[in-house]
Amino acid sequence: MKLIFLGPPGAGKGTQALGVSSRLNVPHISTGNMLRAAVRNETPMGLAAKKFMDAGKLVPDEVLIEMVRERLSMVDCKPGYLLDGFPRTVEQAEALEQIASPDRVINIAVPDECLLDRLTGRRVCGKCSGTFHISKLTDPGVCPVCGWTLTHRDDDQPVTIRQRLKVYHEQTAPLIGYYEGKGKLRTVDGDCAPEEVLASILAALE
Ligand code: AMP
Repeated sequence: MKLIFLGPPGAGKGTQALGVSSRLNVPHISTGNMLRAAVRNETPMGLAAKKFMDAGKLVPDEVLIEMVRERLSMVDCKPGYLLDGFPRTVEQAEALEQIASPDRVINIAVPDECLLDRLTGRRVCGKCSGTFHISKLTDPGVCPVCGWTLTHRDDDQPVTIRQRLKVYHEQTAPLIGYYEGKGKLRTVDGDCAPEEVLASILAALE
């Protein structure tokens, strides 16, 4: 199964992708995680990408398309993939059609007013990629799943979040119509408990 998770920042794409990719036995490919690893490793691409990420803007299409092309050519993608955070522009979606066209696109819908709180309170585990809201943590610095240190992403600050939402509406939301037109889109309500969102996604994949 070749699957895309679409949705605004903070919709829960990463959280849901962890559960769904293991059930479907396909790799979870998060372009945001790949870029953050490149930034940490100070690769030339990572250093160039960082200024776009810190400003809440999209990294140029050609960089992302090449990165995803290379990743999808790896052997673990033979059974399919779950892409989280790609495509984010129509140009990326058209490139993906040429590389490995998706079977299904899940649009996780969450109203903007919920996203600011979700993102400012979001803490991320650098080891297991778990994502948690600060209000649910007994120790806001420690991952409740694996015990690793939790961090607050640099781009999860209010000013950057507003910019990321603007970019989402201008550049990524048009993909909803794009995939609807191809008959591949299923929209699920992301404004409920994670287990309920997971159940809706699994139902949409049947
Ligand atoms: P994410 O973790 O998916 O929220 O991505 C974090 C940041 O990485 C985004 O705000 C962008 O700056 C960059 N990024 C991730 N995926 C893409 C993409 N498909 N196209 C352009 N930039 C991306």
